[in-house]
Amino acid sequence: MNASSTSLRTKVIAVGVATAIVALMVAFFIVGSLGSKSNLKNQRIEDMATAKVLASHVGTPPMLVNLDSFHQLLIAEKQHVSVRTASGTFDLGVPIEKGVALTDATVAIKGGVLTVTSAIDSSLDPPIEFVYVALAVLLVVLASVSIADRTMNRETRERVESAVRAAERVSLGDFSVRVGGGGPEPIARLGRAFDTMATRLESFDRDQREFLADLAHEVATPIQALSGFAQAALDGTVSKDVAQSMIESQTSRLSELLDELTQLRNIDAPYNAEREDVDIEEICRTLYQEFSTVAHDAGVVLDYQCEHMSLRTDRRLVETVLRNFLTNAFRYTPSGESVSLRGEMVHDHAVLSVRDTGPGIAPEHQQRIFDRFYRTEEARDRISGGTGLGLTIARSAAFSLGGHIELDSAIGRGSTFRLVVPMGSEAPEPGERGGSESMNH
Ligand code: ADP
Repeated sequence: MNASSTSLRTKVIAVGVATAIVALMVAFFIVGSLGSKSNLKNQRIEDMATAKVLASHVGTPPMLVNLDSFHQLLIAEKQHVSVRTASGTFDLGVPIEKGVALTDATVAIKGGVLTVTSAIDSSLDPPIEFVYVALAVLLVVLASVSIADRTMNRETRERVESAVRAAERVSLGDFSVRVGGGGPEPIARLGRAFDTMATRLESFDRDQREFLADLAHEVATPIQALSGFAQAALDGTVSKDVAQSMIESQTSRLSELLDELTQLRNIDAPYNAEREDVDIEEICRTLYQEFSTVAHDAGVVLDYQCEHMSLRTDRRLVETVLRNFLTNAFRYTPSGESVSLRGEMVHDHAVLSVRDTGPGIAPEHQQRIFDRFYRTEEARDRISGGTGLGLTIARSAAFSLGGHIELDSAIGRGSTFRLVVPMGSEAPEPGERGGSESMNH
């Protein structure tokens, strides 16, 4: 049992006991004050009765000797009688101590007054039944507190034990386990946090497995083609020229894959952007020329429009981002459609965008396509699909440039990917990466 559950238990018991004691004290006070009021009243009645009897026997003129016979009979231990007349005063009974609460009754007699004074006993003994009831209440309260405490304790222990078992299963690689959010609030919060963590790990693990499967496929396809064409060239089934060109294309595919994997490895390493004055218009023109052949082969119209602007930035990173946008645009845009490359200045930012009139991306995929290994089902079905790393690499490069990526896309209406870089921006500090807004990446 941990310190917080012990202190919770102690608090519960302390509150229970304190409540019982306060309730008991209040009950004593109420009963005591009711008792002393009725005591006072009874004493007054008694004093008055005694005073009347003595007054009728005191005689005329009043004389102490006439009351002597009543002394033992009527006057109690804590009662005092005094008779005052014009000719003198006499007293009966023991004088009452000072500071004691008093009650008195005075009656007129011939030639004076007779007063009976009593000491009030202010300490009240509650009836024994009350003590029994109070003790029973105290016991019931203590028993309920103890039962509640044990129940809570057992529930907490069970929840913690189930969380520990779940954590052990997660550590063994089973990310499907969940603990749920029941039990006392702090334990419930712990359970919910655990489940969120397990869900993320499960999704990450699934992505990793899918990526490895994709990667194995990506590597296997060119290797099989390479060995097939090499064998065919040796057998003489295909001409050496055909075999050579196929071997070159498969080798370049493998080296592209290797290049993406190398870029991926660098994603998490802090990248030092190498800044220089970069002519953005020149970058657009170069990329346009580079992708013209791809566009022609794909039957897609490519155009570019770029303002003259110079940016102090890392040329290689800017090209990496735009190349990924353009590669995707041609990969997913069908023949007959178009792709546009734009470079413009908007306020203090350079905005470099690639727009296509392809299939568009559903809203539920728009956040996730920037995650490592994430590819939509449609993209997976394509023969020419990539590895799901391109946009992850692009986003990382954008952060290293001190900028971000924006996406506008709708199913059937194409997609626009934008790299937004502040003019004169500096590379962010290592902990700043990933601070994107909702539709910024
Ligand atoms: P990939 O190597 O699969 O292209 P990316 O990270 O570059 O990986 O892209 C992730 C996913 O985003 C793609 O698999 C595809 O589903 C989707 N995507 C990216 N660009 C486009 C686009 N221009 N049009 C439609 N879908 C796109």
